[in-house]
Amino acid sequence: MAATAAADLIARAQGGDKRSIARLVSVVENDEPGAAEAMRVLYPLTGKARLVGITGPPGGGKSTLVNRLAGTYRERGQRVAVVAVDPSSPFSGGALLGDRIRMRERFLDDGVFIRSMASRGHAGGLARATARVVNVLDALGAEVVIVETVGVGQEEVDVIRVVDTVCLVTVPGLGDDIQAIKAGVLEIADVLVVNKADRPGADETVRDLAQMLSLANDRAWKTPIMRTSAQSGEGLPELVRAIDQHRAWSVDSGEHLDRRRAAARAEVEALLREALLRELEGRVGDARLDAAVARVAERALDPYAAVEELRRG
Ligand code: GDP
Repeated sequence: MAATAAADLIARAQGGDKRSIARLVSVVENDEPGAAEAMRVLYPLTGKARLVGITGPPGGGKSTLVNRLAGTYRERGQRVAVVAVDPSSPFSGGALLGDRIRMRERFLDDGVFIRSMASRGHAGGLARATARVVNVLDALGAEVVIVETVGVGQEEVDVIRVVDTVCLVTVPGLGDDIQAIKAGVLEIADVLVVNKADRPGADETVRDLAQMLSLANDRAWKTPIMRTSAQSGEGLPELVRAIDQHRAWSVDSGEHLDRRRAAARAEVEALLREALLRELEGRVGDARLDAAVARVAERALDPYAAVEELRRG
């Protein structure tokens, strides 16, 4: 995309045109030409939005909860963006279809922008692509950005790290799943949510979680355990308050700044690595690289020696 076309697109998106916003988000998500220009213009405008993460095993009611949260923030008069990171197969339409239905539901409301992201195929990885998308939405005036992921693997943990407050959603009777959660996500959860609290077993789950926290949590922040019923909306105001309290604590304690610094470092280092690699590849040249690779393949040269040779020029 030519610089003027990128500038036009950015201006239209800043004017609130939803198609342009969607296009701009795609440009940045996929690191297409124009992405660097978009970041140059938009990055100084970022850092204002509240970033809220919702993660947990599938079927726990995350989407229902996200819809409720979005509604609650809308009632407060805040502009909301939702980034749904879908880790299911990019080739299956099921989950995407679900998102489209939800999207339609919320698109009726002009203050909410919903974006589903594919889980694969991003240059530099999903977490960085999500961070870029979140930044664009922040710069375009979203006051709350909700990032929804299925908390299954390391990649999803990395994705959810972009937010200020991570809410981990569990449901009653998920004995084994709670064990699985323990492995990775519990340490990064700022608020634990026992959803479907209208079902039997909620007390037991709250107890289990409290016990796990007492063993695992040595953080200064005391992770609250909230009960919600996303279907009826029960417990939602309390959850929103807990999210607000975490955010306030985070700002006061300096954790907020630490997290933003860590995110900035990760992004700058990643871009630096990519830039240095390109520079080095340019300097070495395809012909020399190919020749060295051929010799390594023939066992005429070992890979370490090849790299030394290529670097020496
Ligand atoms: P996700 O996969 O975590 O996004 O879960 P969904 O939001 O798609 O919800 C999975 C199912 O649980 C749906 O049928 C919801 O209607 C239902 N559900 C969501 N929240 C609640 C709740 O608080 N109580 C009950 N009983 N069902 C719920």
